[in-house]
Parts: sequence; structure tokens; C-alpha cells
Amino acid sequence: EKRELEALKGEVSITLDGRKVELAGNIGTPKDIKGLIKNDAEGVGLYRTEFIYMDNDSLPTEEEQFEAYKAVLEPMKPKPIVIRTLDIGGDKELSYLKFDEEMNPFLGYRAIRLCLDKKDIFKTQLRALLRASVYGNLKIMFPMISSLEELLEAKEVLNEAKKELDDEGIDYSSGIEVGMMIEVPAAALASDALAKHVDFFSIGTNDLIQYTTAVDRMNEKIHHLYNPFNPGVLRLIKMTIDNGHKEGIWVGMCGEMAGDSRMIPILLGLGLDEFSMSPISILPARKLIRSLDYKEMKKFADEIINMGSAKEIEEYIQKYF
Ligand code: PEP
Ligand code: MG
Repeated sequence: EKRELEALKGEVSITLDGRKVELAGNIGTPKDIKGLIKNDAEGVGLYRTEFIYMDNDSLPTEEEQFEAYKAVLEPMKPKPIVIRTLDIGGDKELSYLKFDEEMNPFLGYRAIRLCLDKKDIFKTQLRALLRASVYGNLKIMFPMISSLEELLEAKEVLNEAKKELDDEGIDYSSGIEVGMMIEVPAAALASDALAKHVDFFSIGTNDLIQYTTAVDRMNEKIHHLYNPFNPGVLRLIKMTIDNGHKEGIWVGMCGEMAGDSRMIPILLGLGLDEFSMSPISILPARKLIRSLDYKEMKKFADEIINMGSAKEIEEYIQKYF
């Protein structure tokens, strides 16, 4: 088993009938690069930058952030590295930035909402990202977008950061891809409109399941309701992939679902282009994908998407494999 996985290092992630996908890793700090290399990640699909902020006792400077981003981009070059802008709030807090207590933190002042409210914090990060872009293949991703207005505003701040660097004569890559996470149901439902303004989508199923099913992802008592097989969730995923492809952009997934061997066949069949997961799951996922037929999985996914119950879906998958 272990030797079999070892032998898959350097191989492509391709189905029996030639459908190629990208298997990337999720990371939280430059230290995680070791795991990416060890497990032959084809890129980074999610670099959660909040750890730079959480491991500090004050806001990280532009310079500190620049160093952290460069430390991932440079050794991984030319592989694609998706760096997500600050996603603080919800379950993640900062000791040095105190905000009012909220009744529903997951529905509250977090992620892009905070960044668009505190543009100085946001712009510092965007400047650091732009400066680091010349060291590798950077893609910038915005979290928790729930409307087109937010997306356009975030892109506007990015443009302001670019203008500042232009004025200061500081270099950054041209053609950096800009994408957004689909983790709010409203974004999945409006993904046709959003797709016109980004280069990629990445589906954040950890939050998408939480918000679609109205189940707090941290609440043990209702954990049985937090179900990736929920047909409502799967239909939003399908809608997102279809709408992305209609606009000619690639669609990835960086929530836990992307590394779940029970879900990979359906996701493949739905047309997902990139799967980003904990590095340890990459080689097993490659093994699985290389054993599947894409055309068959398309039919399989078609059947599943028409089922009305999570239980029925789960049982069907179990029986099929
Ligand atoms: C997600 O919501 O699926 C996701 C990848 O983001 P996080 O787990 O950091 O909220
Ligand atoms: Mg999330």
C-alpha cells in the first residue's frame, strides 16, 4: 500500500479515459511546504493566511507578510499557489484586534467583510501579495464573498494597491489570476454573474455545508446534520461548476470534501478541475482518480444529483464502490 503510493509520486492525476485534474494542498504556514513536497502536491489550492495574523501579537507588517508569501511561492515555482486573503472572525480570533461580541460570529463581521471595512489592513496584505508575486505563480483568492458588489469592491482595492506600487516603481507580476471562494449559498446561486468577474472559483465546503444546512460547523450536538451528502449542498456544487465552466473559468474545491474518497468520484463526475486537500490525502486521491473512468463518473454524478435524500445518496455510493 505505502509502496504503491510512493510509486505515484511524479505521476499525473488522470482518469483511465484521460481526464486530467490538479491535486493541490491546503497549507497554513511556509513550514507546511515540506508536506507538500513529500506528498507531491501539484500546487497549493489554499494558503490560509490568517495564521500569520494569529501567530503575532500585533498586525503583521507588509514586510513580514511579503517574506511569508515569498517563502511559499519561491520553492514551489512554477506550481500554482492560491493565497487566500485574511479570513478572520467566525471561529478564528485575533488577540490584538478586539471587536464587539456578536450573537452569531459565523454570520457576522468576518473575512472579506472585515477587510472591506478596514481597508488599510486589507491593502497592506494585497501589497505584500503583489510584491511576492514575482517569485512564483501566485493566484489571489477572496473568502466569504456573498455578493457581486463585495467582489467588485475587493478587486477595486487590489487595483488601488497595484497603482500604489506602480507609483513607487515596485514590480509585481502581470496577469495574476484573481478568484473567489464559493462558500456562501448566495454566491453559489449567483455564480453565473460572479464568474464573469473572476479567473477561478474555489468551493469552500466547510462553510458551504454549514450555511446551506444551517448547521454550525463547531456544534457537536448537531454534527450528524452536517452532511456532505446533503442533496442541497451537492446541487449548489454542481451549479457552481457548471456556471464557472460556462464562463470558461476553472473551478476548484478547498474544503474538506475535496479530499474525501467517498466524494471524489462525484466531484470528478461533476467536472471539478482542481482538488485541494490536506497534503497527506493527495497520493491516495491520485490513486483513486487513476482508477476511475471520467465518462462513467459523469453518469454516476448525474444519477446522484437527481436523488432527494442524503441517506439514499450515501447508500448508493457505498453500493457502487
Ligand atoms: C471552507 O470553508 O471550506 C474553507 C476551506 O475555509 P475555512 O475552512 O478556512 O473556513
Ligand atoms: Mg471557509
